Amino acid sequence: MRMTVFGTGYLGTTHAACMAELGHEVLGVDVDEAKIDRLRAGEVPFYEPGLPEILLRQVEAGRVRFTTDYAEAAEFADLHFIGVGTPQRKGEFAADTSYVEDVVARLAPLLRGDAVLVGKSTVPVGTAARLQEIADENVRQGVRAEVVWNPEFLREGFAVVDTLTPDRIVIGLREPGGAVEEVVRGAYAPILEADPCPVIVTDLATAELVKVSANAFLATKISFINAVSEVCEAAGADVTVLADAIGMDPRIGRRFLGAGLGFGGGCLPKDIRAFMARAGELGADQAMSFLREVDSINMRRRERMVDLATEACGGMLIGKTIAVLGAAFKPDSDDVRDSPALNVAGMLSLKGAQAVVYDPQALDNARALFPTLAYADSAIEACEGADVVLVATEWAEFLELDPVAVTGVARGRILLDGRNCMPADSWRAAGWTYRALGRGVPT
Ligand code: NAD
Repeated sequence: MRMTVFGTGYLGTTHAACMAELGHEVLGVDVDEAKIDRLRAGEVPFYEPGLPEILLRQVEAGRVRFTTDYAEAAEFADLHFIGVGTPQRKGEFAADTSYVEDVVARLAPLLRGDAVLVGKSTVPVGTAARLQEIADENVRQGVRAEVVWNPEFLREGFAVVDTLTPDRIVIGLREPGGAVEEVVRGAYAPILEADPCPVIVTDLATAELVKVSANAFLATKISFINAVSEVCEAAGADVTVLADAIGMDPRIGRRFLGAGLGFGGGCLPKDIRAFMARAGELGADQAMSFLREVDSINMRRRERMVDLATEACGGMLIGKTIAVLGAAFKPDSDDVRDSPALNVAGMLSLKGAQAVVYDPQALDNARALFPTLAYADSAIEACEGADVVLVATEWAEFLELDPVAVTGVARGRILLDGRNCMPADSWRAAGWTYRALGRGVPT
Protein backbone atom coordinates (compact mmCIF):
# COMPACT_ATOMS: atom_id res chain seq x y z
CA MET A 1 0.00 0.00 0.00
CA ARG A 2 0.98 3.65 -0.43
CA MET A 3 0.71 5.92 2.58
CA THR A 4 2.04 9.14 4.04
CA VAL A 5 3.01 9.94 7.62
CA PHE A 6 2.70 13.57 8.75
CA GLY A 7 5.13 14.50 11.51
CA THR A 8 8.52 12.81 11.55
CA GLY A 9 9.33 13.00 15.26
CA TYR A 10 9.73 9.99 17.57
CA LEU A 11 6.34 8.60 16.58
CA GLY A 12 6.22 9.52 12.89
CA THR A 13 9.72 8.46 11.90
CA THR A 14 9.28 5.11 13.63
CA HIS A 15 5.88 4.58 12.03
CA ALA A 16 7.12 5.56 8.57
CA ALA A 17 10.21 3.35 8.70
CA CYS A 18 8.33 0.37 10.15
CA MET A 19 5.50 0.64 7.62
CA ALA A 20 8.15 0.54 4.87
CA GLU A 21 9.76 -2.44 6.60
CA LEU A 22 6.38 -4.18 6.33
CA GLY A 23 6.49 -3.67 2.57
CA HIS A 24 4.46 -0.49 2.13
CA GLU A 25 5.54 2.54 0.12
CA VAL A 26 5.77 5.46 2.51
CA LEU A 27 6.25 9.22 2.26
CA GLY A 28 7.14 11.03 5.51
CA VAL A 29 6.12 14.69 5.72
CA ASP A 30 7.33 17.38 8.10
CA VAL A 31 7.59 21.16 8.22
CA ASP A 32 11.13 20.96 9.59
CA GLU A 33 13.47 21.13 6.56
CA ALA A 34 16.58 20.23 8.52
CA LYS A 35 14.93 17.10 9.93
CA ILE A 36 13.71 16.06 6.50
CA ASP A 37 17.23 16.50 5.05
CA ARG A 38 18.67 14.16 7.65
CA LEU A 39 15.92 11.62 7.12
CA ARG A 40 16.46 11.71 3.35
CA ALA A 41 20.08 10.79 4.03
CA GLY A 42 18.82 7.79 6.01
CA GLU A 43 19.76 9.33 9.34
CA VAL A 44 17.44 9.15 12.38
CA PRO A 45 17.50 12.60 14.04
CA PHE A 46 17.10 11.13 17.54
CA TYR A 47 18.25 8.09 19.48
CA GLU A 48 16.07 5.01 19.18
CA PRO A 49 17.62 1.53 19.33
CA GLY A 50 17.11 -0.52 16.15
CA LEU A 51 15.56 2.30 14.14
CA PRO A 52 18.65 3.58 12.26
CA GLU A 53 19.21 0.19 10.61
CA ILE A 54 15.59 -0.06 9.44
CA LEU A 55 15.44 3.52 8.21
CA LEU A 56 18.67 3.28 6.25
CA ARG A 57 17.64 -0.02 4.70
CA GLN A 58 14.24 1.35 3.64
CA VAL A 59 15.62 4.69 2.37
CA GLU A 60 18.16 2.80 0.28
CA ALA A 61 15.45 0.47 -1.00
CA GLY A 62 13.38 3.55 -1.94
CA ARG A 63 10.39 2.32 0.08
CA VAL A 64 10.42 5.34 2.37
CA ARG A 65 11.00 8.90 1.18
CA PHE A 66 10.62 12.28 2.89
CA THR A 67 9.28 15.67 1.88
CA THR A 68 8.06 19.01 3.19
CA ASP A 69 5.67 19.36 0.26
CA TYR A 70 1.99 18.79 1.16
CA ALA A 71 0.94 18.75 -2.52
CA GLU A 72 3.35 15.89 -3.17
CA ALA A 73 1.91 14.06 -0.17
CA ALA A 74 -1.69 14.55 -1.31
CA GLU A 75 -0.73 13.20 -4.71
CA PHE A 76 1.26 10.26 -3.33
CA ALA A 77 -1.44 8.36 -1.43
CA ASP A 78 -5.05 8.15 -0.27
CA LEU A 79 -4.06 6.96 3.19
CA HIS A 80 -2.47 9.58 5.46
CA PHE A 81 -1.28 8.98 9.01
CA ILE A 82 -0.96 12.01 11.31
CA GLY A 83 1.65 11.86 14.09
CA VAL A 84 2.48 15.52 14.74
CA GLY A 85 3.00 16.89 18.24
CA THR A 86 0.23 17.80 20.70
CA PRO A 87 2.23 19.59 23.42
CA GLN A 88 0.89 21.26 26.53
CA ARG A 89 -0.32 24.79 25.80
CA LYS A 90 1.86 27.47 27.33
CA GLY A 91 0.52 28.48 30.73
CA GLU A 92 -2.36 25.98 30.58
CA PHE A 93 -2.98 22.30 31.24
CA ALA A 94 -4.80 21.76 27.93
CA ALA A 95 -3.19 20.19 24.87
CA ASP A 96 -2.29 22.34 21.90
CA THR A 97 -4.06 20.64 19.00
CA SER A 98 -3.14 23.32 16.47
CA TYR A 99 -0.55 21.11 14.75
CA VAL A 100 -3.01 18.28 13.97
CA GLU A 101 -5.58 20.88 12.89
CA ASP A 102 -2.98 22.49 10.65
CA VAL A 103 -2.22 19.18 8.93
CA VAL A 104 -5.88 18.53 8.11
CA ALA A 105 -6.62 22.14 7.07
CA ARG A 106 -3.65 22.16 4.69
CA LEU A 107 -3.99 18.64 3.34
CA ALA A 108 -7.77 18.50 2.76
CA PRO A 109 -7.98 21.07 -0.08
CA LEU A 110 -5.12 19.32 -1.91
CA LEU A 111 -6.83 15.92 -2.01
CA ARG A 112 -7.96 14.94 -5.48
CA GLY A 113 -9.92 11.87 -4.49
CA ASP A 114 -11.42 10.22 -1.43
CA ALA A 115 -8.90 9.74 1.36
CA VAL A 116 -8.56 8.31 4.84
CA LEU A 117 -6.84 10.51 7.46
CA VAL A 118 -5.65 8.39 10.36
CA GLY A 119 -4.73 10.29 13.52
CA LYS A 120 -2.06 8.66 15.69
CA SER A 121 -1.18 11.63 17.90
CA THR A 122 -2.46 11.67 21.48
CA VAL A 123 -5.37 14.11 21.54
CA PRO A 124 -8.13 15.29 23.87
CA VAL A 125 -11.41 13.48 23.26
CA GLY A 126 -13.46 15.34 20.66
CA THR A 127 -10.46 16.33 18.53
CA ALA A 128 -11.15 13.76 15.81
CA ALA A 129 -14.73 14.99 15.41
CA ARG A 130 -13.46 18.55 15.06
CA LEU A 131 -10.85 17.43 12.52
CA GLN A 132 -13.63 15.76 10.54
CA GLU A 133 -15.41 19.14 10.40
CA ILE A 134 -12.19 20.84 9.27
CA ALA A 135 -11.75 18.18 6.59
CA ASP A 136 -15.36 18.52 5.42
CA GLU A 137 -15.04 22.30 5.21
CA ASN A 138 -11.81 22.20 3.21
CA VAL A 139 -12.08 19.33 0.73
CA ARG A 140 -12.95 20.00 -2.91
CA GLN A 141 -16.49 19.32 -3.95
CA GLY A 142 -17.12 15.62 -4.42
CA VAL A 143 -14.11 14.54 -2.37
CA ARG A 144 -14.60 12.68 0.92
CA ALA A 145 -11.87 12.66 3.57
CA GLU A 146 -12.70 10.35 6.46
CA VAL A 147 -11.01 10.89 9.81
CA VAL A 148 -10.07 7.78 11.80
CA TRP A 149 -8.35 7.59 15.21
CA ASN A 150 -5.68 4.97 15.70
CA PRO A 151 -3.77 5.90 18.88
CA GLU A 152 -0.13 4.95 19.20
CA PHE A 153 1.15 3.03 22.21
CA LEU A 154 4.86 2.78 21.41
CA ARG A 155 7.43 3.39 24.14
CA GLU A 156 10.58 5.32 23.39
CA GLY A 157 13.48 2.91 23.68
CA PHE A 158 11.27 0.07 22.42
CA ALA A 159 9.60 1.95 19.57
CA VAL A 160 10.49 -0.50 16.81
CA VAL A 161 9.40 -3.65 18.60
CA ASP A 162 6.25 -1.93 19.87
CA THR A 163 5.36 -0.81 16.33
CA LEU A 164 6.08 -4.13 14.65
CA THR A 165 4.57 -6.31 17.40
CA PRO A 166 1.93 -4.20 19.17
CA ASP A 167 -0.11 -5.46 22.16
CA ARG A 168 -3.26 -4.25 20.45
CA ILE A 169 -4.42 -2.02 17.62
CA VAL A 170 -7.23 0.42 18.34
CA ILE A 171 -9.20 1.81 15.41
CA GLY A 172 -11.84 4.47 16.07
CA LEU A 173 -14.10 5.45 13.21
CA ARG A 174 -17.59 6.63 12.34
CA GLU A 175 -18.72 3.55 10.43
CA PRO A 176 -17.21 0.28 11.64
CA GLY A 177 -17.08 -2.60 9.21
CA GLY A 178 -16.89 -0.52 6.05
CA ALA A 179 -14.34 0.31 3.40
CA VAL A 180 -12.51 2.81 5.62
CA GLU A 181 -11.85 0.14 8.26
CA GLU A 182 -10.57 -2.17 5.52
CA VAL A 183 -8.06 0.47 4.40
CA VAL A 184 -6.68 0.92 7.93
CA ARG A 185 -6.58 -2.83 8.53
CA GLY A 186 -4.70 -3.13 5.24
CA ALA A 187 -1.86 -1.01 6.61
CA TYR A 188 -1.50 -3.38 9.56
CA ALA A 189 -2.21 -6.59 7.62
CA PRO A 190 1.45 -7.72 7.50
CA ILE A 191 1.65 -7.41 11.30
CA LEU A 192 -1.64 -9.20 11.86
CA GLU A 193 -0.68 -12.02 9.49
CA ALA A 194 2.74 -12.56 11.07
CA ASP A 195 1.84 -12.24 14.76
CA PRO A 196 -1.83 -11.50 15.37
CA CYS A 197 -2.83 -9.12 18.16
CA PRO A 198 -6.30 -7.94 19.18
CA VAL A 199 -7.83 -5.23 16.98
CA ILE A 200 -10.36 -3.10 18.83
CA VAL A 201 -12.70 -1.29 16.50
CA THR A 202 -14.71 1.44 18.16
CA ASP A 203 -15.99 4.99 17.82
CA LEU A 204 -13.72 8.02 17.56
CA ALA A 205 -14.24 9.27 21.12
CA THR A 206 -13.50 5.89 22.71
CA ALA A 207 -10.34 5.47 20.64
CA GLU A 208 -9.08 8.90 21.71
CA LEU A 209 -9.90 8.16 25.34
CA VAL A 210 -8.23 4.73 25.32
CA LYS A 211 -4.85 6.39 24.85
CA VAL A 212 -5.20 9.14 27.45
CA SER A 213 -6.70 6.69 29.95
CA ALA A 214 -3.83 4.26 29.44
CA ASN A 215 -1.30 7.01 30.11
CA ALA A 216 -3.27 8.30 33.10
CA PHE A 217 -3.33 4.80 34.55
CA LEU A 218 0.42 4.33 34.10
CA ALA A 219 1.14 7.72 35.67
CA THR A 220 -1.15 6.88 38.57
CA LYS A 221 0.61 3.57 39.16
CA ILE A 222 4.00 5.29 39.30
CA SER A 223 2.73 8.01 41.61
CA PHE A 224 1.01 5.43 43.79
CA ILE A 225 4.30 3.70 44.56
CA ASN A 226 6.01 7.05 44.98
CA ALA A 227 3.38 8.13 47.50
CA VAL A 228 3.94 4.86 49.37
CA SER A 229 7.63 5.58 49.06
CA GLU A 230 7.15 8.82 51.03
CA VAL A 231 5.53 6.82 53.83
CA CYS A 232 8.34 4.25 53.67
CA GLU A 233 10.87 7.02 54.19
CA ALA A 234 8.94 8.34 57.19
CA ALA A 235 8.39 4.88 58.68
CA GLY A 236 11.81 3.40 58.04
CA ALA A 237 10.55 0.86 55.52
CA ASP A 238 11.91 -0.27 52.15
CA VAL A 239 9.74 0.53 49.14
CA THR A 240 11.63 -1.81 46.80
CA VAL A 241 10.87 -4.86 48.94
CA LEU A 242 7.31 -3.65 49.33
CA ALA A 243 6.93 -3.19 45.54
CA ASP A 244 8.26 -6.72 44.92
CA ALA A 245 5.80 -8.10 47.44
CA ILE A 246 2.68 -6.29 46.23
CA GLY A 247 3.72 -6.78 42.60
CA MET A 248 3.52 -10.56 43.03
CA ASP A 249 -0.24 -10.22 43.13
CA PRO A 250 -1.18 -10.62 39.48
CA ARG A 251 -4.01 -8.11 39.98
CA ILE A 252 -1.34 -5.51 40.74
CA GLY A 253 1.74 -6.59 38.77
CA ARG A 254 5.33 -5.42 39.36
CA ARG A 255 5.74 -3.26 36.25
CA PHE A 256 5.52 0.50 36.72
CA LEU A 257 6.07 0.08 40.46
CA GLY A 258 9.61 1.43 40.30
CA ALA A 259 9.82 4.02 43.08
CA GLY A 260 12.18 6.88 42.42
CA LEU A 261 12.33 10.19 40.62
CA GLY A 262 9.06 9.55 38.85
CA PHE A 263 7.84 10.04 35.32
CA GLY A 264 8.69 12.69 32.77
CA GLY A 265 9.10 12.91 29.01
CA GLY A 266 6.97 14.24 26.20
CA CYS A 267 3.89 12.14 27.02
CA LEU A 268 2.77 11.26 30.57
CA PRO A 269 3.05 14.71 32.22
CA LYS A 270 1.31 16.62 29.43
CA ASP A 271 -1.20 13.85 28.81
CA ILE A 272 -2.52 13.73 32.38
CA ARG A 273 -2.78 17.52 32.45
CA ALA A 274 -4.62 17.58 29.13
CA PHE A 275 -6.95 14.83 30.40
CA MET A 276 -7.82 16.92 33.47
CA ALA A 277 -8.39 19.99 31.31
CA ARG A 278 -10.60 18.13 28.83
CA ALA A 279 -12.61 16.42 31.58
CA GLY A 280 -13.23 19.91 33.01
CA GLU A 281 -14.39 21.26 29.65
CA LEU A 282 -16.82 18.36 29.45
CA GLY A 283 -18.20 19.16 32.91
CA ALA A 284 -16.54 16.13 34.49
CA ASP A 285 -13.97 18.08 36.53
CA GLN A 286 -14.18 15.86 39.56
CA ALA A 287 -13.68 12.64 37.64
CA MET A 288 -10.06 13.35 36.84
CA SER A 289 -9.20 15.68 39.72
CA PHE A 290 -7.13 12.94 41.37
CA LEU A 291 -4.65 13.34 38.52
CA ARG A 292 -3.65 16.67 40.05
CA GLU A 293 -2.43 14.68 43.06
CA VAL A 294 -0.71 12.17 40.76
CA ASP A 295 1.13 15.09 39.14
CA SER A 296 1.99 16.65 42.45
CA ILE A 297 3.34 13.41 44.01
CA ASN A 298 5.46 13.04 40.91
CA MET A 299 6.94 16.53 41.08
CA ARG A 300 7.53 16.20 44.85
CA ARG A 301 9.99 13.37 44.28
CA ARG A 302 12.27 15.72 42.38
CA GLU A 303 12.29 18.15 45.30
CA ARG A 304 12.87 15.30 47.74
CA MET A 305 15.94 14.29 45.75
CA VAL A 306 17.29 17.83 46.00
CA ASP A 307 16.67 17.69 49.78
CA LEU A 308 18.54 14.37 50.01
CA ALA A 309 21.44 15.86 48.06
CA THR A 310 21.47 18.90 50.35
CA GLU A 311 21.54 16.62 53.39
CA ALA A 312 24.32 14.59 51.83
CA CYS A 313 26.29 17.81 51.40
CA GLY A 314 25.91 18.69 55.07
CA GLY A 315 22.97 21.05 54.67
CA MET A 316 24.45 23.47 52.16
CA LEU A 317 24.86 23.02 48.39
CA ILE A 318 26.91 26.12 47.72
CA GLY A 319 30.39 25.17 46.60
CA LYS A 320 29.59 21.46 46.33
CA THR A 321 29.99 19.39 43.19
CA ILE A 322 27.35 16.83 42.33
CA ALA A 323 27.71 14.34 39.50
CA VAL A 324 24.27 13.85 37.94
CA LEU A 325 24.27 10.60 35.99
CA GLY A 326 21.49 10.79 33.44
CA ALA A 327 19.76 13.56 31.52
CA ALA A 328 17.18 11.66 29.45
CA PHE A 329 13.79 11.15 31.07
CA LYS A 330 14.36 7.42 30.84
CA PRO A 331 17.09 5.06 29.66
CA ASP A 332 17.49 4.07 26.00
CA SER A 333 16.21 7.45 24.88
CA ASP A 334 17.72 10.87 24.17
CA ASP A 335 14.45 12.62 25.03
CA VAL A 336 14.90 15.32 27.66
CA ARG A 337 11.39 16.77 27.54
CA ASP A 338 10.27 17.32 31.14
CA SER A 339 13.12 15.13 32.33
CA PRO A 340 13.28 14.58 36.11
CA ALA A 341 17.06 14.18 35.81
CA LEU A 342 17.61 17.58 34.23
CA ASN A 343 15.02 19.16 36.47
CA VAL A 344 16.94 17.96 39.54
CA ALA A 345 20.26 19.06 38.04
CA GLY A 346 18.76 22.50 37.37
CA MET A 347 17.43 22.82 40.93
CA LEU A 348 20.79 21.77 42.41
CA SER A 349 22.51 24.36 40.26
CA LEU A 350 20.05 27.09 41.28
CA LYS A 351 20.80 26.29 44.91
CA GLY A 352 24.49 26.89 44.34
CA ALA A 353 25.88 23.43 43.60
CA GLN A 354 27.98 22.66 40.55
CA ALA A 355 25.91 19.93 38.86
CA VAL A 356 27.96 18.01 36.32
CA VAL A 357 25.69 16.03 34.03
CA TYR A 358 26.52 13.00 31.93
CA ASP A 359 24.19 10.94 29.73
CA PRO A 360 25.12 8.30 27.15
CA GLN A 361 22.78 9.70 24.47
CA ALA A 362 21.02 12.86 25.60
CA LEU A 363 23.90 15.30 26.07
CA ASP A 364 23.23 17.35 22.92
CA ASN A 365 19.54 17.74 23.76
CA ALA A 366 20.38 18.52 27.39
CA ARG A 367 22.93 21.18 26.41
CA ALA A 368 20.39 22.80 24.10
CA LEU A 369 17.77 22.93 26.87
CA PHE A 370 20.01 23.79 29.85
CA PRO A 371 23.09 25.46 28.38
CA THR A 372 24.27 26.76 31.74
CA LEU A 373 24.77 23.36 33.40
CA ALA A 374 28.17 21.66 33.30
CA TYR A 375 28.47 18.53 31.18
CA ALA A 376 30.95 15.66 31.10
CA ASP A 377 31.79 13.17 28.36
CA SER A 378 31.69 10.09 30.54
CA ALA A 379 30.28 8.94 33.86
CA ILE A 380 33.76 8.79 35.37
CA GLU A 381 34.55 12.31 34.16
CA ALA A 382 31.30 13.57 35.73
CA CYS A 383 32.34 11.99 39.04
CA GLU A 384 35.73 13.69 39.10
CA GLY A 385 35.89 15.78 42.28
CA ALA A 386 32.22 15.12 43.05
CA ASP A 387 31.06 15.39 46.64
CA VAL A 388 27.96 13.36 45.80
CA VAL A 389 27.12 11.04 42.92
CA LEU A 390 23.44 11.07 41.98
CA VAL A 391 21.93 8.51 39.59
CA ALA A 392 18.93 10.12 37.90
CA THR A 393 18.29 7.87 34.89
CA GLU A 394 18.71 4.09 35.05
CA TRP A 395 20.98 3.56 32.04
CA ALA A 396 22.53 0.08 32.05
CA GLU A 397 26.02 1.62 31.94
CA PHE A 398 25.44 3.31 35.32
CA LEU A 399 24.37 0.04 36.90
CA GLU A 400 27.66 -1.43 35.73
CA LEU A 401 29.76 1.48 36.97
CA ASP A 402 32.72 0.23 39.01
CA PRO A 403 32.50 1.82 42.49
CA VAL A 404 36.24 1.32 43.00
CA ALA A 405 36.98 3.33 39.85
CA VAL A 406 34.62 6.09 41.01
CA THR A 407 36.29 6.10 44.43
CA GLY A 408 39.54 6.91 42.64
CA VAL A 409 38.18 10.16 41.19
CA ALA A 410 35.37 11.41 43.45
CA ARG A 411 35.88 13.61 46.51
CA GLY A 412 32.92 12.32 48.53
CA ARG A 413 31.59 8.82 49.17
CA ILE A 414 27.83 9.30 48.95
CA LEU A 415 25.75 7.66 46.25
CA LEU A 416 22.17 8.88 45.81
CA ASP A 417 20.13 6.40 43.81
CA GLY A 418 17.22 8.26 42.25
CA ARG A 419 15.94 5.16 40.50
CA ASN A 420 16.49 2.40 43.05
CA CYS A 421 18.53 0.67 40.40
CA MET A 422 22.10 0.58 41.67
CA PRO A 423 23.78 -2.48 43.26
CA ALA A 424 23.89 -1.04 46.79
CA ASP A 425 26.00 -3.84 48.24
CA SER A 426 28.95 -3.39 45.92
CA TRP A 427 28.97 0.37 46.50
CA ARG A 428 28.81 -0.11 50.25
CA ALA A 429 31.61 -2.65 49.99
CA ALA A 430 33.71 0.02 48.27
CA GLY A 431 33.14 2.34 51.22
CA TRP A 432 30.20 4.35 49.93
CA THR A 433 27.12 5.53 51.79
CA TYR A 434 24.11 4.51 49.71
CA ARG A 435 20.88 6.47 49.93
CA ALA A 436 17.79 6.02 47.81
CA LEU A 437 14.28 7.36 47.58
CA GLY A 438 11.74 5.37 49.57
CA ARG A 439 14.23 3.45 51.62
CA GLY A 440 14.05 4.86 55.11
CA VAL A 441 15.88 1.85 56.50
CA PRO A 442 19.65 2.12 56.68
CA THR A 443 20.89 0.52 53.47
P1 NAD B 1 7.87 15.15 18.18
O1 NAD B 1 7.90 16.52 18.72
O2 NAD B 1 9.10 14.29 18.28
O3 NAD B 1 7.48 15.21 16.63
C1 NAD B 1 6.45 16.00 16.11
C2 NAD B 1 6.82 16.35 14.67
O4 NAD B 1 5.69 16.97 14.03
C3 NAD B 1 7.99 17.35 14.56
O5 NAD B 1 8.99 16.82 13.74
C4 NAD B 1 7.34 18.58 13.95
O6 NAD B 1 8.21 19.33 13.12
C5 NAD B 1 6.21 17.95 13.15
N1 NAD B 1 5.14 18.87 12.74
C6 NAD B 1 4.57 19.87 13.46
N2 NAD B 1 3.62 20.49 12.73
C7 NAD B 1 3.59 19.85 11.54
C8 NAD B 1 2.80 20.01 10.36
N3 NAD B 1 1.84 20.93 10.29
N4 NAD B 1 3.03 19.19 9.31
C9 NAD B 1 3.98 18.23 9.38
N5 NAD B 1 4.76 18.04 10.47
C10 NAD B 1 4.57 18.83 11.52
O7 NAD B 1 6.64 14.43 18.87
P2 NAD B 1 6.42 12.85 19.15
O8 NAD B 1 7.09 12.46 20.41
O9 NAD B 1 6.71 12.07 17.91
O10 NAD B 1 4.86 12.85 19.44
C11 NAD B 1 3.92 13.07 18.42
C12 NAD B 1 2.54 12.69 18.95
O11 NAD B 1 2.53 11.31 19.26
C13 NAD B 1 2.13 13.39 20.23
O12 NAD B 1 0.74 13.58 20.21
C14 NAD B 1 2.49 12.40 21.30
O13 NAD B 1 1.73 12.58 22.48
C15 NAD B 1 2.13 11.11 20.61
N6 NAD B 1 2.86 9.92 21.08
C16 NAD B 1 4.20 9.98 21.29
C17 NAD B 1 4.86 8.86 21.75
C18 NAD B 1 6.35 8.91 22.06
O14 NAD B 1 6.83 7.97 22.71
N7 NAD B 1 7.07 9.92 21.66
C19 NAD B 1 4.16 7.65 21.97
C20 NAD B 1 2.79 7.62 21.70
C21 NAD B 1 2.15 8.77 21.27
